[in-house]
Amino acid sequence: MAKAVIIGAGIGGIATAVRLAVKGYSVTVLEANDTFGGKMQEFWLGGYRFDAGPSLFTLPHLVDELFTLAGRNPKEYFTYTRLDPITHYFWPDGSRVKAYADAAQFATEAAQQLGVPRKAVQEALEKSSRLYKGTADTFLHKSLHRLQTYLSPDVLKAMGCLTDLGLTTTMHEANAKQFSDPRFVQLLDRFATYNGSDPYQAPGTLNIIPHLEHNLGAFYPKGGIYAIAASLVRLAEELGVVFRYQEPVLRITTENGKATGVETNSGSYQADVVVSNMDVVPTYRKLLPNQPAPEKTLQQPRSSSALIFYWGIKRDFPQLHVHNIFFSQDYKAEFEHIFKYKTVSQDPTVYVNITSKAAPGDAPAGSENWFVMVNVPHNQGQDWEELTAKTRQAVLQKLSRMLQTDIKELIEEEQVLDPLLIEGRTSSFGGALYGSSSNNRMAAFLRHPNFSARLKGLYFCGGSVHPGGGIPLCLLSAKIVGELTPAVVPSPAKPPK
Ligand code: FAD
Repeated sequence: MAKAVIIGAGIGGIATAVRLAVKGYSVTVLEANDTFGGKMQEFWLGGYRFDAGPSLFTLPHLVDELFTLAGRNPKEYFTYTRLDPITHYFWPDGSRVKAYADAAQFATEAAQQLGVPRKAVQEALEKSSRLYKGTADTFLHKSLHRLQTYLSPDVLKAMGCLTDLGLTTTMHEANAKQFSDPRFVQLLDRFATYNGSDPYQAPGTLNIIPHLEHNLGAFYPKGGIYAIAASLVRLAEELGVVFRYQEPVLRITTENGKATGVETNSGSYQADVVVSNMDVVPTYRKLLPNQPAPEKTLQQPRSSSALIFYWGIKRDFPQLHVHNIFFSQDYKAEFEHIFKYKTVSQDPTVYVNITSKAAPGDAPAGSENWFVMVNVPHNQGQDWEELTAKTRQAVLQKLSRMLQTDIKELIEEEQVLDPLLIEGRTSSFGGALYGSSSNNRMAAFLRHPNFSARLKGLYFCGGSVHPGGGIPLCLLSAKIVGELTPAVVPSPAKPPK
């Protein structure tokens, strides 16, 4: 039976394991940590449950698809509800907008609260939808590094969108051209942070992202985001995938231009197919030290990282929802701090995710589990202890001011995550959340392909390679690897004696 070894049990590695098992491979996943999930972990602080990493879930059909592919009913493994409103936005001037799931209702709300033309909001969302539909098949669902992709009719569809794509303007310029209200521009610019980019540098192409949240919807999985990884591991194990924890891969072995397996402290694993779900930078630097590395690709600027304060808050805030954003006064300065000065602004935009709004069991009665996140640069040797202390102070002041309550007094549990911890726990280079950033119009083509051009049998999945970071794109990277790997030839049946 053809063998596949997967390095890492992040969401990309788990999804690849399912796809390769369905394809007929005997699959072993080797994971450095003592559990699966990578950035997608959960933990408890007293009576408060937290998802450690991702909090926003879009395109749930990409998870369902894996169960269906394996002949299972997704609902028996994994369920979710649509969020409405999706996000509650707060500005320093006191204005607020609830982003309702229904596009028309959202447009009405934006018109009432900010005075932006209702029709223009709807047109912006329709354009986002048009661009997404025109480009996703080419840019997200397929390898950009295979000739076949460019011979597909989908390319014609994508070409048809070229003039609208905004390749020559930044995301911010495109939004500011469409809307004169700086608050609504800020709301649209924020979607650059979906993949850790800067709206003042990233191309207008990224304006396809609002389509995901506003037209297709944001969802909350039963059991939290962690349930995505847990349910897929259950499926993978049912399909015969073997997960070996606390077994970091030390080397990818090669012979005559082919990856032949991996080595760990416990021994070596021979494989027909090796898939790295480890960040692509350490995959080359640590696991393939004697192979030429694609330097230009590996040196692409990293995406942003995050500082997260997990707070058990002993009060409830009826004015908050699952996703809440407290904007900064000067968004441009905030991104300059992150990408130019490699530090954190003293007036950062603060994202507060409260899953106990959707799942009351995630916090004690009358309390809330706050996941408080600030976008920060990836680690380049900054003094994170000092930056964390300063940012915590700034966040507390800002939230206390905007919610007119002394938040510090309400914190009864606390834990912090910074870029160093993210890197230490998942090997993500610099603790970047989404691999390389999209602050360049060629970024899509500069991400590492899902296969090695030099070593046959070596593939890559996860947020540091094509098509990019975030749960949906990691799932799509697994889909592409599933399509690129060779078909398994069934062993001939033994002749009857
Ligand atoms: P990772 O999660 O990076 O896991 C890689 C795994 O490989 C780890 O388990 C690691 O231990 C293992 N590994 C590494 N090296 C080795 C080795 N040598 N041997 C064996 N195992 C190894 N995405 C969203 O869609 N929505 C969000 O709201 C969102 N918010 C985020 C917030 C935070 C704080 C973070 C950290 C991320 C967020 N993301 C979000 C991004 C999302 O979490 C990631 O894109 C995704 O989970 C990455 O999955 P991955 O498959 O690349 O693997």
